[in-house]
Amino acid sequence: MTEEIREKKRILVIEDEPDIVRGLRDALEFEGFEVQARGTGAEGLVASMEWDPDCILLDLMLPDDNGYRICETLRGKNEVVPIIILTAKAQETDKIRGLDAGADDYVTKPFSVAELIARINAIFRRQARLTHSDETFNIGAWAINARKHTMSKGRASRRLTFYELEVLKLLRERAEATVSRDELLEKVWGIQASPTNRTVDNFIVKLRRKLEEDHKNPRHILTVYGLGYKLVP
Ligand code: CA
Repeated sequence: MTEEIREKKRILVIEDEPDIVRGLRDALEFEGFEVQARGTGAEGLVASMEWDPDCILLDLMLPDDNGYRICETLRGKNEVVPIIILTAKAQETDKIRGLDAGADDYVTKPFSVAELIARINAIFRRQARLTHSDETFNIGAWAINARKHTMSKGRASRRLTFYELEVLKLLRERAEATVSRDELLEKVWGIQASPTNRTVDNFIVKLRRKLEEDHKNPRHILTVYGLGYKLVP
C-alpha cells in the first residue's frame, strides 16, 4: 500500500472482451479514473503488482484460468486492494463463491456502467473513512490498528484486509452483543441477505484462524447459534 496521494485513482480492468474493455475504459476515464486493461489473468496479476491499482475489475471468464482462482491469487498478493468481479453468471452461488474467493463486490453482465461506478465510488468512500480513522483497539492480546490495517502482538504483526477490519469494527461497536449474519452481510459487504449465509461463516472461520489462539475453540469471536456472532474483546 502506498501512502502517496494520487491525483487519480487507478483502476485495473482484467477482461478479455474488447468491446467491454473499450466501454469501461471510456466511462471510467470520463469519471476521472486512470485505467489499464489486461486480457488474461496472468497479465492481470503482473499488472496488479507493477502498477499498484486502487481497484481491480475482474472478469470471471478469462481465457487462461478460472476467475475464482485468479481472484484468490490476486488476494494472496494484495490483501487490501478492492476487487469487483464482473460476471455473466447471475447465480447467487457464483456471487457467493466470488466473495469467498476474496472479491469485495460483483456486478452481473450486462451491467450498467453507472451502477458499476457507483459501487467503485462506494468502496473508495468506505476506504477513505477507514484510512482517516486513527483508531486502535484491542482484541485479546492483539492490538488492531485501523489506519495501518494491521494487528500486532509483541513482535508479531499481520495485515488485515479491508473487509476483515470492517467486520471487526462492526463486531466491536456492538461488543458483547449478537450481530446477525444478515446485518454483517448488509453493513459490511453492502449486499442483501442471501439464501445461504455461508459467506459470512467462511469469512469468520478465516478471521478466527488469524486472530484466535485456538481457532476451533474461539474466545473472542463467538458463534451465537442460530443468530450470528458476538465479539468478546
Ligand atoms: Ca470474458
